[in-house]
Amino acid sequence: MALRIAYGRIMQESNAFSPLPTTLEDFQRTHLHEGHDLARRVVDKHVHEVDGFARNAELSGFHEAVRRYGEGRIETLPLLSAWAISGGPLSAHCLSTLIERMVAALRRAGPVDGVFLALHGAMGAFDDETHHFGKDPEARILEAVRDVVGPRVPIAVTFDLHGLLTVDKMAALDLLAAYHTNPHRDHQKTGLRAGRMLVETVLGRARPHRAWRSLPMLVGGGAGVDFLAPTAGLFRLIRKMEADPRVRDISLFLCHPWNDHPELGWSVAVFADDQDLAERLADQLAEGAWATRHDAPPTFLEASAAITRIKKEKLRRALGTICVCDASDVVGAGGAGENTNLLRAFLDAAPELLTYLPVRDPVAIAALAHHAIGDRVDVTIGGRIDPASNPSVRVMGRLVHRSTSDTFGTRLVIDLAPDPKQPRARDDGPRRYGMKVVLTEGAPLVMKPTFYRELGLDPWKADVCVVKSFFPFRIFFLPQSRLALYVKTRGVTDFDYMHQLETRGPTFPRVPLVDWRAEDRRRRAAS
Ligand SMILES: [Zn+2]
Repeated sequence: MALRIAYGRIMQESNAFSPLPTTLEDFQRTHLHEGHDLARRVVDKHVHEVDGFARNAELSGFHEAVRRYGEGRIETLPLLSAWAISGGPLSAHCLSTLIERMVAALRRAGPVDGVFLALHGAMGAFDDETHHFGKDPEARILEAVRDVVGPRVPIAVTFDLHGLLTVDKMAALDLLAAYHTNPHRDHQKTGLRAGRMLVETVLGRARPHRAWRSLPMLVGGGAGVDFLAPTAGLFRLIRKMEADPRVRDISLFLCHPWNDHPELGWSVAVFADDQDLAERLADQLAEGAWATRHDAPPTFLEASAAITRIKKEKLRRALGTICVCDASDVVGAGGAGENTNLLRAFLDAAPELLTYLPVRDPVAIAALAHHAIGDRVDVTIGGRIDPASNPSVRVMGRLVHRSTSDTFGTRLVIDLAPDPKQPRARDDGPRRYGMKVVLTEGAPLVMKPTFYRELGLDPWKADVCVVKSFFPFRIFFLPQSRLALYVKTRGVTDFDYMHQLETRGPTFPRVPLVDWRAEDRRRRAAS
């Protein structure tokens, strides 16, 4: 008789400081599929699992594990797959609806022998009543699934390495694997790793023992690129440990520093055929991670310093473009995408540079709805989603583009180059190219050159392309980018925000702890 494994996903990375709750519409806009539609996306290698983002991700990796290790004995049952762009915590309605739909699908599926879930690990949510953050909503998902399947059915989970292991999550799940890369490139492989452990467990061929650690360490947040020091050394250590045939899988979590949880910090998980070995390796990896805690965080430039540097970089601008990461408003880390501070700085200090810069403002887009392409427009943008951080800015220019995409909604481009018909003042200085301000309805996740290309803006021609991702843009803009600068203005993805979050015990660097072990024991005993 076939063994049955149900699978699904509820995934989003939340920034506790974002003023905008993530709603069901945000999931619908990005990725929300069930039943046969979901199965087609993960079983057929040629159909995108997540449109526009990944052809094959965690669930495809799980299916690969079923094909490779399932001995033809495993039937898979699609539940629900929901993924949204990083943003604010989920609204209470959004979280409960997603959980209800997943649980209903699981009940319809009948008895199962295993469950495979792709979660993020740093998802937040609002509570029903108080509107305060609901602690650890992913533990709620796992507990709801556990309630249906009972205590004996193994549940395997994949996580982003920016996730957080907690007592409640660990109590409800059996097996896990987190990405080994940042920027993330191994979604599918991670699904394969967790999927293999689950398949072998369901077939009765393995019974992995696990050990985990929770480090009182709130650092990194930007420094953790898997192929650069010091993180590269930790992943080398993991590969060395995994060479032992008794070791099943090892995960290291670098922490999403804007996740509101009292046990926020780095985590480690080891699965091995032997409990002592798992414990020993978990200690060793935790010790290695702890040793990197003094590594200086990356330095970000003030906008004025960045602009001075950009003006000097004539050759780099001529040969390609300069990517400016809007580090205070990284949509990929939960920023709302409204930052007007960078716009203000470029308008004041570098109007002659050809700069592509996005601002999210559905109100301004609606206000310009009656304008035709080519019209001169005068509009106030920003100051709507987060007015305290993003004061409004008045811009005047020509409307040159309007289009709509599934992910970003309506998009407009306003060309701020001065009207060529107007006489130029003699002291106007060098020829002004002007900025191209992109207004978007949804959060402008600028990670790939196609974001601008779709709007008729060629990244090769730009002096500056503003991006809203911490790392992935470095891969996607590799051909065009001659220099990447990180600029800090003011917003919810500033690293200093994390120190406003309350943790239950002391954490480094707020408290100069010299050892992690006592705090780890206390964290893992807490519930
Ligand atoms: Zn991540």
